[in-house]
Amino acid sequence: METLRQRLRSIDQKGYKAYKAIEGTYRFPAFTLAIDHVQGDPFAEPSKIRVIVPRAKTKLALKWTDTRPRRVRCEDVLVRRVHHELRQWPLRARGSGKSGLVLIDAPGQKVLERTAVQVTDETITVCLSVGLPAHGRRILAKEAEAIFFEQIPSVIERAVYGLRDEDIRPAVELADQQHAIRRYLYEHGLVAFVANGAILPRESGVSDKPLQRGAVPFQSPPELEIAIPVPHRAEPIKGMGIRKGITLIVGGGYHGKSTLLQALEHGVYDHVAGDGREFVITDSGAVKIRAEDGRSVASVDISPLIGALPYGKETTQFSTENASGSTSQAASMIEMIEAGASAFLIDEDTSATNLLIRDGRMQALVAKEAEPITPYIDKARQLFHDYGISTVLVVGGLGDYLDIADCVIKMEQYVPFDVTGEAKRIAAEMPSGRKAEGGESFGRIHERIPLPGSLNSQKGKKAKVATRGRHVIQYGETDVLLYALEQLVDDSQTRAIAAALLYMERKGWLDGKKTICQLLDAIEEQWDRQGLGSVSFRKGNPGELARPRRFELAAALNRLRTLRCIK
Ligand code: ADP
Ligand code: MG
Repeated sequence: METLRQRLRSIDQKGYKAYKAIEGTYRFPAFTLAIDHVQGDPFAEPSKIRVIVPRAKTKLALKWTDTRPRRVRCEDVLVRRVHHELRQWPLRARGSGKSGLVLIDAPGQKVLERTAVQVTDETITVCLSVGLPAHGRRILAKEAEAIFFEQIPSVIERAVYGLRDEDIRPAVELADQQHAIRRYLYEHGLVAFVANGAILPRESGVSDKPLQRGAVPFQSPPELEIAIPVPHRAEPIKGMGIRKGITLIVGGGYHGKSTLLQALEHGVYDHVAGDGREFVITDSGAVKIRAEDGRSVASVDISPLIGALPYGKETTQFSTENASGSTSQAASMIEMIEAGASAFLIDEDTSATNLLIRDGRMQALVAKEAEPITPYIDKARQLFHDYGISTVLVVGGLGDYLDIADCVIKMEQYVPFDVTGEAKRIAAEMPSGRKAEGGESFGRIHERIPLPGSLNSQKGKKAKVATRGRHVIQYGETDVLLYALEQLVDDSQTRAIAAALLYMERKGWLDGKKTICQLLDAIEEQWDRQGLGSVSFRKGNPGELARPRRFELAAALNRLRTLRCIK
């Protein structure tokens, strides 16, 4: 500790580069401080440090981390506490650029496994970013001393040492309950659960926080209500269960259909207490599928949904730099089957209509032979039968879908009703006049093998991999655009995806033998066994990653314009 003080004093007022001298590890009374990476100048990405606290000296009992979901929850509680304590300090000290910033990679409404705080049986590691202070480019050692010897010890004292059982218990109990519901879904053939009383609408289109005023709490229709027993409370939790198979969400415009579907999309992740979606739980293999014209597609066999295109363009190995609405959505479907999805969540609002339906009149006017698309309405049942993939589909206008639904939920003034019986009666009384076009089965999925060179992080002479916000990964010469991934929910997930891609490249995993599915399995296994941070190439300090699902990782790989595959 005194070494650090001396080093800082000896570089006071010197040029910024002299800060490099403080990289190293220092023992403080309450923790070990590792200064892993010192930024090159005051305007660069802040320096990376770790604070390592011996767990035995804290009050964090071992029982709170005895399962994986519990450990992740404890880490989440600690990140939020550190973030809260950091905010009690002035945002930054005097100085240029990022001088005096002390940050942690704080989460939003979701609880994700992240590297910002890592808890093991022995240690609690807190990763921070610090803008080392300078005036112009001259080192302000006094300010730096205040950060390391006052601010950080005080924050750690309050956030980590100050942690009591009563701070952690409610969070861990909620984690246990959410986990119990997930298991229940899995064991009882359910795709999703929405608890009574849940608040689904969000504050705004750009906020993940609950709508504060005038939100109508969710109330299950009696026919669909189930009760799920959960730990830490006597009464089971009641709410609407959505079964496997084909479920439609219908209703008038602005009556809450998309809001319900979005809640299901986000239910693949756990939410914090007070979010309103604590007990909205969706099978973690459920994937939103939407149209995304303009995206690239690499050698995807979309023939189950789209056959030979005009001028004989092949669709068994369909590649394009610029997909249309329907081809982009079909490609996403096939890619997500390949990646192992268990359910598709689809909204008419964001779909290519011609992929969803060809009605009786169009069938009469345009012969099947002249229409490459086999609409999803003729494929959804086969998809469930052949691959076990359920569909939850929002439809406002496409009544032909009543024919194929197992369950129809009508939203009226934000209240759901089970109208399955009525829908079946209407379907029988008013035939759609359509002919089924789907053939005997969904069709084979050809697993693709990415070729070496598909991942190329070289930009000029240097490797360049960076993220810009949540939706752009700059990978070598190309930008991967992730705007359409509605289940990518945290910028740190995007960083983890970028890191995973680079890891696969550097490890030579794309050897022309492994399928995409095998690559995804391998990364997940790596994360499970070696930890999320193990894919990071930032030496020693992985501090700003959050775990994405395999589907978002697959989606990024599939949108890489340099991807080349064989099958
Ligand atoms: P639809 O898809 O049926 O056209 P949306 O789901 O987009 O309708 O909802 C329309 C509006 O109603 C949105 O602004 C949404 O935030 C709001 N809304 C949805 N559900 C509720 C609810 N339960 N309580 C209050 N407002 C809601
Ligand atoms: Mg809508």
